[in-house]
Amino acid sequence: MAQKITAIKGMNDILPPHSAHWEWLEGQVREVMSRFAYRNIRTPIVEPTGLFVRSLGEVTDVVEKEMYSFEDRLNGEALTLRPENTAGVVRAVVEHNLLYEGGKRLYYMGPMFRHERPQRGRYRQFHQIGAEALGFSGAHVDAELILLAHSLWQALGVRDVRLEINSLGQPEERKAHREALIRHFEAHQELLDEDGQRRLYSNPLRILDTKNPAMKDVVESAPRLLDFLGEASLQAFETLQQILRAHDVAYTINPRLVRGLDYYNLTVFEFITDSLGAQGTICAGGRYDGLIEQVGGKPAPGVGWAMGVERVLELLKEQDLLPAAPVPDAYAVIPDMQSLPVAMQALQQLRQAGLAVQMHATPTGEMGSFKSQFKKADASGARFALVFGADELAEGCVTIKQLRDGAGEQSKKPLAELAQWANSLQSQD
Ligand code: ATP
Ligand code: MG
Repeated sequence: MAQKITAIKGMNDILPPHSAHWEWLEGQVREVMSRFAYRNIRTPIVEPTGLFVRSLGEVTDVVEKEMYSFEDRLNGEALTLRPENTAGVVRAVVEHNLLYEGGKRLYYMGPMFRHERPQRGRYRQFHQIGAEALGFSGAHVDAELILLAHSLWQALGVRDVRLEINSLGQPEERKAHREALIRHFEAHQELLDEDGQRRLYSNPLRILDTKNPAMKDVVESAPRLLDFLGEASLQAFETLQQILRAHDVAYTINPRLVRGLDYYNLTVFEFITDSLGAQGTICAGGRYDGLIEQVGGKPAPGVGWAMGVERVLELLKEQDLLPAAPVPDAYAVIPDMQSLPVAMQALQQLRQAGLAVQMHATPTGEMGSFKSQFKKADASGARFALVFGADELAEGCVTIKQLRDGAGEQSKKPLAELAQWANSLQSQD
């Protein structure tokens, strides 16, 4: 045998039956998105590297060390596998002038790529579902996005997810805070780890986002951005909170919540669970009013979030909320090959009538013994075995055998009445 080729580290195959959980989650998301009038957008997985450098910021973890970048062999263009999708959505919105007649509400689902150390809840190819509202200002739109995620948790039934919010204010307000932060960290330089030292002058705000417990005290005693916010920023933050309270959405203010990417202003938020260990943030987002202009569009506001699909599915599993794996309604037992053409026609009729039916098949192409076929029928989880025996078929009939409730019971049905039978089953369900 030739040597096996395996998947790239940190990149996972999503296999049945688990893939059904993905499809189910995606279906729930589509439903909730459509209730909020968010429309689907699909952008390329590969984008020009410059898009991410410009939008995420040079000194972010993602741009500094996590991007899969390469040169197009044919024309030398610098390309990157998307590490997130807000940048791609904004690029597409600008490129196609989608905001010319007002704002747009969009959502996406798909794979993202970051060169991180793989561990539970952290992969190199992972998946995000994201929602973006572009061209709209106002804390009520920030609230709408939070309500959208909240509604999704409700639809899924997940518990113990908490919401943390903060305001990053406006760039000028951050500037004054930045100076105060640098003074604070300079005074305690010996307490900063290597990342902290490196970010001291390039991006001190990000030091607040450290996951190093040894830096907890120096970060907690740092000046709070909230204390540097002007009237308008504080008012927006207050309005957001009023709306959340009016909708009974519990939240806490986390003054150290700054988010990993540079493009945020005003509202930022994260949904966090304690059930997943260190990788507890399942959804994160905020407002990014400067981003569209930064990417080359006419200035326009934006706000959005992205959730980590692997983490959400893991949480659903922890809380025992995943649906049972799908099974076919019926399994076709076909004792001999001569019956195959008639059986296949009948199966098509049943499928058209809405039943899920599985045809018996084997590696050799032979049908195999009656007994082995029934074993497969049982293992498939189907409710019924349809037996297309030569004797039944000679009478224009098929035998329907119950495999679950009332196992063993069987009845003969004329082939001509199969579709009707399928319909009657569905009206029972
Ligand atoms: P973290 O602090 O966990 O690295 P982040 O701030 O880099 O997260 P975002 O860029 O905000 O993450 O992405 C939004 C969400 O996508 C995260 O909250 C998380 O649920 C998920 N996510 C991010 N990176 C990964 C990854 N490498 N593997 C799995 N999920 C991820
Ligand atoms: Mg990260």
